[in-house]
Amino acid sequence: MRITRKVFHDLAIWQVFFGLCIGVVFPPFVMLLGVPRAIALTPLFFTACLVAGALAGLVNYTISHRVVGARLALLAARMTQVGDSLESMTKSGDLSECTPAQCSIVVDSEDEIGESSLAFNRLVNALSTSMRNLLAVRSFSEMLTSQLEIGSLAEEALRQFSEHGGAAAGLILYETEGELKVAASRGLRDPQSVAVSRHVAAAVRTRQRQMITIPDDVHIEGVLADFRPGEVLVLPIVYKSVSLGVAVLATAGTFTVDQRGLIDLFLQGLGLALNNAIAHDRLQHLAAVDPLTGIYNRRFGLGRLHEEFGRAVRAAAPLGVLMLDIDHFKAVNDTYGHLVGDRVLKSICAITRSALREGDVLLRYGGEELLAILPAASADDLRQVGERVRRAVEDSAVSDGDKTVRVTLSAGGASFPNPGVEHEDELIRLADEAMYRAKDSGRNRVEIAR
Ligand code: GH3
Ligand code: MG
Ligand code: MG
Repeated sequence: MRITRKVFHDLAIWQVFFGLCIGVVFPPFVMLLGVPRAIALTPLFFTACLVAGALAGLVNYTISHRVVGARLALLAARMTQVGDSLESMTKSGDLSECTPAQCSIVVDSEDEIGESSLAFNRLVNALSTSMRNLLAVRSFSEMLTSQLEIGSLAEEALRQFSEHGGAAAGLILYETEGELKVAASRGLRDPQSVAVSRHVAAAVRTRQRQMITIPDDVHIEGVLADFRPGEVLVLPIVYKSVSLGVAVLATAGTFTVDQRGLIDLFLQGLGLALNNAIAHDRLQHLAAVDPLTGIYNRRFGLGRLHEEFGRAVRAAAPLGVLMLDIDHFKAVNDTYGHLVGDRVLKSICAITRSALREGDVLLRYGGEELLAILPAASADDLRQVGERVRRAVEDSAVSDGDKTVRVTLSAGGASFPNPGVEHEDELIRLADEAMYRAKDSGRNRVEIAR
């Protein structure tokens, strides 16, 4: 029953009241024990009993206040301290400010106070878990908005899956031109073999997550990853019901409920970000690539030449360019039609591309004129590469029904450093002139500017 607004005041009132009650009943009680009425019912004895009862009540109150109040004050002080730590953790985002050891109360009392401490610890645990999740989701979202390239987005996502989701190894695949490509992998021995596994295929087909638990008696140490995986999650990455790719995450033990919850949250954001990154990639591709031949267009390719020329000047390193022009191509169009001409042009581009090194750049300079940029290539290298391309084209053929179309090309090369070359345009002009010399000297030839 509540009398005042303070529990200990209520307690004091009840205990003094109870003491007084004892003081009142004490004189009749002692008469039952044989104390004469003349003594028991005197005002002095009665007053003495009341005072003794009230005093006992007061002493009782003081003891309970000391014992219980001090305990409660300690609990309150600790709760305040933990509350401050939680608050500062939310502001700073530093999870180490409130570890379970720092933010829990020692339970040393087997009663309601102990139960209160236990309940408080559970509350702090739940709160710090949800705070941890909040911070993880915040950091994941920040990462998603800052990454536009598919590769770096996937790498960052895997790092966060590992940091917050407990994935010791993982792989992110994305769909492009009808097949799955590795965007990034982490801690896996052979990402490609995981990419073609039946679990990944099933996740793509059904758009349902696949969970693989590896029994203890199955020994696959060092096969998939450097550690022995206990559980593998294969998760479809979907955006607006469109399947974009798959995330494969592995852990040594099993993923906890909290980790799975976070992984699911992350996956939703990843769907949106991957969709953006794929769109960005397609746009970049569209802006850089010639749609007919699949090689770089003139604008993008000449931009690359500008970069490579600048690099060659700074590093005083060689740089070569080859101008390639198909011989009598007009006749091919006139004889077989433009569609066959297009197929021949595509095939010549593919052959030329595969005759170059990976770091070389091939662009469509004009109608059926190609320009190859070869970093670090000297005049001799240019002649070799030009000959390799010329021969490959000469040996190739495109079929048109029962007919076979064969073409040749003429090439002109120019390299830097060269006394007459101070700008990349001069390099192109020299290569063009050399190409015309090749045409003039009979075509299907390579000429290099000296
Ligand atoms: P040569 O270079 O040996 O002097 O003779 P050529 O017949 O190849 O002459 P030129 O290089 O001047 O002709 C280019 C021809 O290439 C004219 C044009 O019809 C054709 N051409 C240019 N671009 C395309 C294309 O995208 N598709 C097709 N089918 N033909 C193209
Ligand atoms: Mg030509
Ligand atoms: Mg031409």
